[in-house]
Amino acid sequence: MPSAHDAPKQRLIRVQTRIAQALADAGRAATTVCLLAVSKTFDAASVRELAAFGQRKFGENYVQEALDKQHALRDLPLEWHFIGPVQSNKTRAIAENFSWVHSIDRLKIAERLSAQRPAGLPPLQVCIELNVSGEASKGGVIAAELPALAVAISGLPGLQLRGLMAIPAPATEVTAQRAAFRQVRVAFDALVARGHALDTLSMGMSADLEAAILEGATIVRVGTALFGERIKHAQG
Ligand SMILES: *Cc1c(COP(=O)(O)O)cnc(C)c1O
Repeated sequence: MPSAHDAPKQRLIRVQTRIAQALADAGRAATTVCLLAVSKTFDAASVRELAAFGQRKFGENYVQEALDKQHALRDLPLEWHFIGPVQSNKTRAIAENFSWVHSIDRLKIAERLSAQRPAGLPPLQVCIELNVSGEASKGGVIAAELPALAVAISGLPGLQLRGLMAIPAPATEVTAQRAAFRQVRVAFDALVARGHALDTLSMGMSADLEAAILEGATIVRVGTALFGERIKHAQG
């Protein structure tokens, strides 16, 4: 008989299996991708359930929602990643309560996060979000602005630049998915060639994580495939 706990566990195993298969297909070592569970709109109990099966890294998009969950789960050794758009009036709460920020796309925001990072904590681990869709409405910097932003962020004491993040426009064909992720990889390689010590490509979600892993992703950010469909849109 399936218990009430089977669904999350089965979902986690299914995602872990997809990641392992994609790594094998890419000829990459088994431990070179980490799974970030995107828990936005899901409650603390859902996170706790997944944590019980060994998941440690969780991604959130809305500050107040995330702080409430962090408080409810403070007994667990979880690592919190902020992956949503960063508003300047939320930088202090992010700098004080997260280990990572994936979605940096302006120097002003990076400077605030650096200045507000508490001295007792390690530097905030950050990625620059790259706009690969070319749509002005989407977040992220365009490739032409990337080198200068990377240099500026590297000089901020409260931050450690780890790499790039991207959310390409959804595509159904794997070849189209891979082409978008390849652009991120090319931009990443160019920064490394300029002397930046980077190790993180945050790309790939529930629908396209295989394509991202084939193009070198080191963090995949997965929500729906772990928690189910999101039914509400929290704010904050
Ligand atoms: C919501 C979200 C995800 C997870 O997307 P799924 O399709 O549910 O896996 C990943 N990254 C970011 C930035 C998100 O906002």
